[in-house]
Formats: sequence, C-alpha cells, structure tokens
Amino acid sequence: MDSVLVHYQEIALKGKNRPWFIARLVKNLRVATSDLDVRGVRALVGRIELVLGPSATWDEVRQRLKRVFGIANFSRAGRTDLDLDHLASAILDDLGDRAVPSFRISARRADKRFPLTSPEIEREVGGRIKGARGWNVDLENPALDINIEMLPAEAFYHFGNERGAGGLPTGVSGTVVCLLSGGIDSPIAAWRLMKRGCTVQFVHFHSYPMLSRASQEKARELVALLTRFQLRSRLHLVAFGEIQRQVVLTVPPPVRVVVYRRLMFRIAERIARQVGAQALVTGEVVGQVASQTLENLNVINAVVSLPVLRPLIGMDKEEIIAEAERLGTYPISIIPDQDCCQLFTPRHPVTRGRAPDIELAEQALRIDDVVGSAAAAAAVEDFRFPVVKYKVRSEV
Ligand code: ATP
Ligand code: MG
Repeated sequence: MDSVLVHYQEIALKGKNRPWFIARLVKNLRVATSDLDVRGVRALVGRIELVLGPSATWDEVRQRLKRVFGIANFSRAGRTDLDLDHLASAILDDLGDRAVPSFRISARRADKRFPLTSPEIEREVGGRIKGARGWNVDLENPALDINIEMLPAEAFYHFGNERGAGGLPTGVSGTVVCLLSGGIDSPIAAWRLMKRGCTVQFVHFHSYPMLSRASQEKARELVALLTRFQLRSRLHLVAFGEIQRQVVLTVPPPVRVVVYRRLMFRIAERIARQVGAQALVTGEVVGQVASQTLENLNVINAVVSLPVLRPLIGMDKEEIIAEAERLGTYPISIIPDQDCCQLFTPRHPVTRGRAPDIELAEQALRIDDVVGSAAAAAAVEDFRFPVVKYKVRSEV
C-alpha cells in the first residue's frame, strides 16, 4: 500500500474558496513531509493522495499528518486501475495471511459515471474476496471493513482511517500576533488560532539582562514545538526590563501591572502592523489573575485598535492544562523561569483599574518613543519544520 488518502473537512472547505483551500492543504502536506520519502502529493476529486516511496515509514508519515490542519481523516491506501478483478486481487495481496471472522466492503464513487453503482461494486468485489478466503459477509458489525473509493481514473482501497487534526489549512485565514509568555495559557491560545487557519507570529517580552535568559529559552522551545503544526514561525523577542525600570520610577505600585500590560499590547500592536497581522492573541481568561478582571481587560484593551482574540476566555485552568498536556507544551511551560512580570511586580495590584487613573500614571512615560524603539529593537528569529537536510547530489 504505497498511498495515503487524505480526506479534508468537507463542510469547512465548501464554497468559492475551496480550490484555494485545497491548494494550500496540498502545499502544507508537501512541506510537512518534505524530509520523508514522499514522491508526490496529488489533488484528486474530493481527496488528496500522497504517493509514498519505498523508504517512507508509515509511522512517521502518520505522525506528520496528525498535525496538519484541514484534514478530517486519512488512511494508508492501495491504488489500482478501475478493473474490479485487479482491485480485488490487489486487496487480497495486501490482506496477506490476515484471517478474520467477517468482513464488509464499503464502496464510494467520486465519479457517478462509473457503470456500476456502489452496492454493485460492493457485491462484485465482496464476492471475489469471499470466494478466495471463505470469510462471512457481515454488513452490521464486521471484523474488517474494506473501503473502496472509485475515482474517475483509478480506484483506492483501505482498511480503516485515522482522525485528522480538523480545522482549516494553515495560511488560509491570515496572520495574527500572539503574545507568548512562558506560561501555560498563551501557547494553547496560539494553537487554537493555528487550528483555524491563521499563521501565528509570536511576541515574547523578556527582562534580560536584569533577569536570566530562561524565559527566552522557554519561548523558543514553545515556538519550536508549535511550529510542528504551522511549519513556519516567527518569534519577536522584545527587551522589556528597561521599560519596566522606567515604569517603576514614575508609576504607583498598584497600577504597575496594568501599565506593563498596556505597554505590551501597544508594542505587540506596533509589530503586528509591521508584519501585516490583523489581530492580537492572548491567553487571557476572565478572572484568572488580577490583571484579567473585566475592568482590567477593558483598560488594557483600550490602548489598541486591532481586535484582541482570547480563545481561552471562558476556560478553567484544568481544561487548559489538559490541552497543554495533550499538545506537549505543558512540561515546557512549567519549567521555572523569572517571568518579566515578576520583576517589579507589586504585592497588591489593582483589580479594577480605571482609565483616568491609569492614563494619569502613564503621563510621565514617553509612550510613543518607548513603544517605537522597543518594537524596532526586537530580535527576530525564524523557525521551520521539518528541518530539511538537503541531500548532496553526487557529481556525474
Ligand atoms: P500564561 O500562562 O499564558 O503566561 P498567565 O496566567 O501567566 O498566562 P498573565 O501573566 O496575566 O497570565 O498574562 C496574560 C497574557 O498576557 C498571556 O496569556 C500572554 O498572552 C500575555 N503575556 C504575559 N506575559 C507575557 C510576556 N512576558 N511576553 C508575551 N506575552 C505575555
Ligand atoms: Mg504568564
């Protein structure tokens, strides 16, 4: 079985964007498997075929496909021409010495011009398998389900499928900028937007050299992990320590956290505009910490005009942790680091910041300069998955 048959999210991909979505999915599949022995990725009627070379291992291909957004399900499959004798004997070959008490054939026609109906194909092929193996046909609860898909010029068969990641193909929904702390929530928020087809760029605020480089390392590890889903990522590392020092000099302790966060939002928005992103993303959750009361979310939000997407807004911490464990970000997120917000953080931050008070507190800061220079000085790092090792061609 040298093919993989990929079925995409039918309902999501309907409409006039469909060809473009499919082209994007094909491209993403090519990139996601670019270091494996995949000989081709072909868009067929209603599905996509990956043609495997002899050294592609199913396990590796499977791992990759599990993370490609836009896939409903996929199967390792065999391909033949439309001749039912050829089809049945290919199926028998691939079944090898497998023995089952019962089986069923489920046929689908992508091309209704095929002279036999689906039930007729099922009977024809089923009869040949039963004749060769003597297995019972069980339409209700078979031990083995043999699927046949008849396309205009070829037939595919497979013995079951795996669930895909769902969502929309990476790149079809535009770019967003995620504020990525080293914590548990923001990587999950980023992943949620990736799943909806967004390309996520990351902004991380760190306090190096006042604090260690640990938070930057965590941000890099998180971005590297998330890049396995979106294949290309950009991380902007913004030095925030000096800005915090200035805040401490002039801003009263209770409102400092809100002021920090307003500065983060402004800087992130500046970067977002530079890269053509259409929204900001955060891991904020109503009531999780003092800065995430509705009052504070409001005063923080007020300084930006791009929409701020908060995909985790109504989730409990346990639910977010479960998702972080599933994605593998959790062990990275809980590595202790000195988050920049710990630096100069007052003991009793306001929970109901009022805009006039905050604006007054900010007056001594040269906001525009601070924001402009922080954004301009950000260090930019690019990530790719897979890291393709180019084959060196021998000279003839
Ligand atoms: P997380 O687990 O995502 O760090 P949190 O519970 O620690 O969230 P806060 O520290 O209040 O909550 O941060 C709320 C959101 O602000 C984060 O989800 C993230 O989007 C953003 N954020 C916080 N700190 C940083 C940072 N150092 N760099 C970039 N974004 C940050
Ligand atoms: Mg945090």
